[in-house]
Amino acid sequence: MTTPRLEIRNISRIFEGRRVVDDVSLSVLPGQVTCLLGPSGCGKSTTLRIIAGVDMQDAGEIHIDGRLVCDTLYRVPPERRSVGLMFQDFALFPHLTVAQNVAFGLSGSKLAKRTRVEELLHRVDLVRHIDDYPHQLSGGEQQRVALARALAPRPKIMLMDEPFSGLDNRLRDEIRDETLGVLKDEGAAVLLVTHEPDEAMRMADEIALMRAGRIVQQGAPYNVYNAPVDRDAAAFFSDIN
Ligand code: ADP
Ligand code: MG
Repeated sequence: MTTPRLEIRNISRIFEGRRVVDDVSLSVLPGQVTCLLGPSGCGKSTTLRIIAGVDMQDAGEIHIDGRLVCDTLYRVPPERRSVGLMFQDFALFPHLTVAQNVAFGLSGSKLAKRTRVEELLHRVDLVRHIDDYPHQLSGGEQQRVALARALAPRPKIMLMDEPFSGLDNRLRDEIRDETLGVLKDEGAAVLLVTHEPDEAMRMADEIALMRAGRIVQQGAPYNVYNAPVDRDAAAFFSDIN
């Protein structure tokens, strides 16, 4: 059996007596995009922060590539979990060039780093901007640099929290498709958080539908879309165009 790149088991998180993440289990296989989909406030970002290691669960455990990285007694720090992060506020380092931004998390020889940077910038079609600074790039271009930077160290799992919501509508579909192409080429395993059903339908191999802290349905996009688990799930998907 294939070892999942990410497996979380029975994760719960309690804030001020309220269980905002409630017994969530899911896994992401190599090369797959799993979408954690649900309305605002349902606990998606909290779940992602726990996986990244910047917040701590009250129950449950996390395995990355078959290795326990966190339970309630044991905790590997964020920088040693081999996770790549991308958020809406993708925050490139303004004082570093595109090449320096992409190289930021890389170790190894200068030549090896340069080779990896060029490979990725070639893939996101930004080689011509290699020595530019972030402010010289468009929003979409900055997004692609952020993607290259997150992928550069070959993380075991990419965690993406609404990474496209800061982009204007006109660009968004194009950048979603480009991003998906790069992720697939790199063979990355991805957990993508979104509140937009159409984004999940477009990008996911697997959808985990979340509501009020719980996963209420999980499956291939068209199964989840065609056979919603209840009226709320049907309503949630109904405004897809
Ligand atoms: P989502 O990403 O799905 O919009 P979040 O995970 O950000 O949802 O938040 C889930 C719930 O937990 C929300 O009701 C939010 O207000 C609450 N919450 C998130 N972080 C904290 C915190 N640090 N302290 C207290 N409540 C929090
Ligand atoms: Mg969120």
